[in-house]
Amino acid sequence: MNNKVVKNLVILGGGTAGWITAALMCKVLGKSISITLVESDKIGTVGVGEATIPPIINFNQALGLDEKEFLRETKGTIKLGIQFENWLKQGDSYMHAFGTIGKNFPFCDFHHFWVRHRQNGGTESLWDYSLNYQAAKNNKFSPLSQIKGTNLPGISYAYHFDAGLYARFLRKYAESKSVTRVEGTVDEVKLNPESGYVEKLVLEGGDEVQGDLFVDCTGMAAMLIHKALGVGYDDWSHWLPCDRAQAVPSALVKPIVPYTRSIAHEAGWQWRIPLQHRTGNGLVYSSRHWTDEQAREVLMSNLDAEPLADPKVIRFRTGRRREAWRKNVVAIGLSSGFLEPLESTSIHMIQSAATRLIKCFPHCGIRAEEVAEYNRQSQVEIERIRDFIILHYKANQRRDSEFWRQCEEMAVPDSLQQKMELFRKSGKAFRDFDDLFTEVAWQQVLIGQGVMPEDHHVIADGLSDSQLTDLMGSLQTLIQGSVKQLPSHDQFLASIQDAVK
Ligand SMILES: Cc1cc2nc3c(=O)[nH]c(=O)nc-3n(C[C@H](O)[C@H](O)[C@H](O)COP(=O)(O)OP(=O)(O)OC[C@H]3O[C@@H](n4cnc5c(N)ncnc54)[C@H](O)[C@@H]3O)c2cc1C
Repeated sequence: MNNKVVKNLVILGGGTAGWITAALMCKVLGKSISITLVESDKIGTVGVGEATIPPIINFNQALGLDEKEFLRETKGTIKLGIQFENWLKQGDSYMHAFGTIGKNFPFCDFHHFWVRHRQNGGTESLWDYSLNYQAAKNNKFSPLSQIKGTNLPGISYAYHFDAGLYARFLRKYAESKSVTRVEGTVDEVKLNPESGYVEKLVLEGGDEVQGDLFVDCTGMAAMLIHKALGVGYDDWSHWLPCDRAQAVPSALVKPIVPYTRSIAHEAGWQWRIPLQHRTGNGLVYSSRHWTDEQAREVLMSNLDAEPLADPKVIRFRTGRRREAWRKNVVAIGLSSGFLEPLESTSIHMIQSAATRLIKCFPHCGIRAEEVAEYNRQSQVEIERIRDFIILHYKANQRRDSEFWRQCEEMAVPDSLQQKMELFRKSGKAFRDFDDLFTEVAWQQVLIGQGVMPEDHHVIADGLSDSQLTDLMGSLQTLIQGSVKQLPSHDQFLASIQDAVK
């Protein structure tokens, strides 16, 4: 496609996507290429995106970040899962808790034993066997790799943090290495008349920034990938009906819980993200069912402390950019697509895209094969995550509003329909190749959303009734004992501050 060696990488946009990409690029490729980031204070960032999922731990380790410093600087807290309230029906609640549940058996997941135990009359919930869930609901946390004295896995966690402070933290990191920041608004993109490649960005005032490879991190504006190169967008709003959000911070509430809350309302859902200094709140809703004013009222009347600002409205369209990489432009972040924030997957997808770009990084020019592989992987990733999010809407038993009835009636992608049917009939759930979500994550949301297995795996019949009762009892005892020994989440957060004294 192009034989020019990539020496100058230009990232346009300084939101979470821009600074994550800059940080990883300079850490891994900083000695080989020059990296410039252009951002516009005038335009600003979307300013939301405060909940993450466990792979962020690996990402931070790859950057060599100190966890305590990271949490202090971003006012971060611990996230052990997401509690879904009123999603199945009003008054119901379940958690997508990170990590595993119960005990891993070869060839057969733990929940099959739980299903059989229920068929025998057991009344315990699946989450009685989740260390993460029990720690979350008891407001406990400490890093724990294994349950003491056993080979059972310990706690799996992620973070909540302040979006603005996170971008600032990464900016400091990237600038302290080799990234050059240019402040300014780009108002023209110059293309090579023959190849159609982007050659330079022209800023207001006339300054120019040249590059060999450009990363479009301009958020929903998609200035390079869409406006300059014309790459289209697959709209998924027929599966993911929400298209607006309003976000507002509120005063701190103690104790600071170590999980995100997602509370379903009549035409959308509300998030609560606890940080060290405040709570982040937002309402995600369908503009076909609620006006902005109605949504505002729902959000403001469901805060658990005084608001610290006025809510701001964010419009979005769920879907994906048809090609994340075209010619010499790679779209990362909101410019490459957006799935709504229900499972906190966007920041992860930025980290994964930046990692993928490094793995596919062009050497002696940009090759069609590398571009195609990058695009293939990006598509597989986002489609699998899409199905997982649709599941929450589809498998609801709420009949109290048009919105939920329509969600329940909608046709979903075949890939999801098959998963739901297989699980309902047999209890079997498989993680597809390249699926971000584990079998245990699928099992929790399927069961939490009322897709109950009618059968269990034959291996679960290998234990006698009394052996099964003993197994379930001893697992519960181990988990409860382990949770008792953990410090509270507030104590853990205090220990981070102590580390600087
Ligand atoms: C309601 C909502 C809630 C969310 N919650 C979560 C969550 O809990 N967890 C999660 O993982 N993700 C979440 N996300 C997604 C997350 O916010 C984004 O993925 C993340 O912030 C990345 O945004 P971005 O950097 O792509 O875009 P933006 O933050 O919009 O940044 C765009 C950048 O481009 C610059 N720019 C644009 N045009 C120009 C120009 N012409 N010249 C110069 N610079 C320009 C802007 O100044 C800015 O710096 C949420 C998103 C929404 C909408």
